[in-house]
Amino acid sequence: MTIHELITALDYPAAALYVDVTGRFRYVGPKLLPDDPIRLAIAEHRALLTALFTYAPGRRCVFTNCYWLIAVGSKIACPDHCIAIDQESAILKSRQIAPPSGSEAVV
Ligand SMILES: [Zn+2]
Repeated sequence: MTIHELITALDYPAAALYVDVTGRFRYVGPKLLPDDPIRLAIAEHRALLTALFTYAPGRRCVFTNCYWLIAVGSKIACPDHCIAIDQESAILKSRQIAPPSGSEAVV
């Protein structure tokens, strides 16, 4: 079940999803059996649900269609996009250190 399917499958207004003051994701509503698809979907998507339901103005990744919270120490990107930025920066630096042959500057 996708997150979208989970959200639409909840029994509103009897059920609600939220993040408490300790940052823990919570479900309140009708009791769910251990194999209930809603319980399984919550378990599967808990990390992203926690990020989505966390009140965090100005603390979300700036990349399009990315809703994760920004990484600790970053001002713009989630952990995955920080890794992508680092990898791209490393590629650019390696190109600056070792220019292609035949492109030496004339002094
Ligand atoms: Zn991101």
